[in-house]
Amino acid sequence: MPKIQDIPDSSRSSRGGMSHQAIEDYLKTIYRLAQDGSPVSTNRLAEARSVKPASVTGMLKRLAGLELVNYQKHYGVTLTDEGRKIALEVLRHHRLIETYLIKALGFEWDEVHEQAELLEHVISEKLEERIAAYLNHPEFDPHGSPIPRADGSVPQVQTRPLTTMVIGDQGEISRIATDSNSDLLRELAKLDLVPGKHLHVLAISADRDQFTLQLAQNDHPIELGFELADAILIKI
Ligand SMILES: [Zn+2]
Repeated sequence: MPKIQDIPDSSRSSRGGMSHQAIEDYLKTIYRLAQDGSPVSTNRLAEARSVKPASVTGMLKRLAGLELVNYQKHYGVTLTDEGRKIALEVLRHHRLIETYLIKALGFEWDEVHEQAELLEHVISEKLEERIAAYLNHPEFDPHGSPIPRADGSVPQVQTRPLTTMVIGDQGEISRIATDSNSDLLRELAKLDLVPGKHLHVLAISADRDQFTLQLAQNDHPIELGFELADAILIKI
């Protein structure tokens, strides 16, 4: 698929007054926020990128000029086919890099996001392919997030938050909802609550704020507050 990296250097450093990194970061954020398919509002985008709504509006107008987004005031923004391609390509880089850093270089899963945020914009297609081959073309990263394939398709898996389970339910951890909250990821790793593990819900407090889980028979029960429990996505 065409990528911003393939654009000659002269136009790449500044496309419509934006760096290719800024373009990719915006497209990636819009893709992430639009998971339910609906348009993303300027305010949500501003919040996610920690900038003022006014500067988001300026950015969206320029992205629309490049035909990477469809933007209408008061309606929000969606990605064009070309914008979606670029977003998926950057996500593929991001998740392959996180997987590589953990599996090949011994990084912990709470320290790879920062590295991937930088490297995702600069690795070549050749390096991407070599990393994917080295890892035997993984479909999911260590956080359980789907890695978009080179053809632009995305592995699908249905999940629901642990907080929707009831006492007596069992299930397999599919994914952790965040890859950037280091404290939360460290906490879950300490408790061995990682994708692939099976868990059993032993008890839930009356206000559904405290979850008691067990990973295997004879294991000590684990007490989990709502925030941690809500970040754990269970395979349906
Ligand atoms: Zn990440």
